[in-house]
Amino acid sequence: MNYFPVFFDLAGVRVLVVGAGEVASRKISLLERTGAQIAVVAPEVAPDLVQRAVHGRLTLMQREFEPEDLAGARLVIVATSHRALNRWIANLCESRAIPVNVVDDREASRFIVPAIIDRDPVLVAISTGGSSPVLARRLRERLEAAIPQRFGELALWLRELRAAALERLRGTAERRRFFETLVDGAAARRFIAGDVRGARRIARRLLESTAHSAPAIGEVTLVGAGPGDPELLTLKALRALQDADVILHDRLVSAGVLDLARRDATRICVGKAAGGDGAEQDDIHAALIRHARDGRRVVRLKGGDPFVFGRGGEELEALARAGVPFSVIPGVTAASGCAAYAGIPLTHRDHAHSVSFVTAHPDRGGIEPDWDALARARQTAVFYMGLARIEHIASRLLAHGAPPERPAAIVERGTSAEQRVIVATLGTLHQAAADAALCSPALLIVGDVAALAPTLSWFHVAAEAEGHSDRLLA
Ligand code: SAH
Repeated sequence: MNYFPVFFDLAGVRVLVVGAGEVASRKISLLERTGAQIAVVAPEVAPDLVQRAVHGRLTLMQREFEPEDLAGARLVIVATSHRALNRWIANLCESRAIPVNVVDDREASRFIVPAIIDRDPVLVAISTGGSSPVLARRLRERLEAAIPQRFGELALWLRELRAAALERLRGTAERRRFFETLVDGAAARRFIAGDVRGARRIARRLLESTAHSAPAIGEVTLVGAGPGDPELLTLKALRALQDADVILHDRLVSAGVLDLARRDATRICVGKAAGGDGAEQDDIHAALIRHARDGRRVVRLKGGDPFVFGRGGEELEALARAGVPFSVIPGVTAASGCAAYAGIPLTHRDHAHSVSFVTAHPDRGGIEPDWDALARARQTAVFYMGLARIEHIASRLLAHGAPPERPAAIVERGTSAEQRVIVATLGTLHQAAADAALCSPALLIVGDVAALAPTLSWFHVAAEAEGHSDRLLA
């Protein structure tokens, strides 16, 4: 991220605008809505600006810019039509550590001015880092349509309600719940629809009932984060992430998914190395129980589906023993995600009428999977956690009667932008994996369906085939 998003309080602060053309005038209009002391320097000034200087907080200096004009300025906007002049002024600002924006010259600018959706006091600012004004405009149009006109008034009303909530409601968690119910429910809907009296009535009732209700009991939601692509989250998972107070997540959960969680939720990475020992697992159980008993909404976020090789069952057993309420939100398991994004149907009427999900690790008692069953034809076997065990898996399957030409595919970092798919056979698998220098996480799919990948692949295909022209376009 090159740009740090901030909202700058300009009350009483000197802001210098150099130039007084159309663009400068637009920036000045925006500045006038803040409490800034605006100074404008330009040899030629549009009559309407002169008018505004008479009435407002605007000081006009009708002459060429001089370096002394920068004295005391906390922010500078440069908008003359002379690029060299603009750059010279920008350099002066830089050397004095005054943040400067040069209109239409991102390189010379220390800060850039975002596109905004204005529902004062609610302000949504959009930046594409200067890469595409068109994209920013499109995004703005969408947000304009999605954010009700009365959103600003709603914010002001909520601010007004804060005093009452502070007085009547005990803790921060309780106040937050009150405001969430208000914002998500009928009160805000009515307010936005213009029924202010109705909204106030509902808010009063809600305040009463919250004040008299028992303290909140926390709960744990076991959430499947899917295999990586954040868009594969379920709507329920998204909501749980946005409601969470605490999120305990595995290392496998992608950054893109975590980005969707509530900003001020506490995130705790409880990622363990493959397998993980019992002590670590007990610590996780203890943390889940402790946070829930403190009244928090706890999300236990796991890669893929929590009930597929995720130890979700064990964690729920611990919660059940402790009497902590819980619920489960399934996720797209790695087998489904990787298969879909690699173009490998897990079942197919011509090739496979069943599919098994297998862990490549022996179970607690050291018992191996049923290799005889997995080696049979007309089925698909998906091996999780198998990267280090690929050779072992292939040799076991071969030893139990699977033919060396049986297709097999490895999907590395499936569904992510870095996804790689390697298609081989049981006989060539080990060498193919070694050549590709694979890294984790990776999934092994064995069965005739794997041979369909070259025909049915769609994800990243265009990028690979047209890599050359992509580069040209870039
Ligand atoms: N609960 C998870 C599985 C956890 S076990 C689920 O339902 O998907 C971890 C193993 O899952 C990894 O070792 C790897 O084999 C597989 N895996 C998870 N995400 C993956 C991904 N994006 N690409 C390839 N394999 C993945």
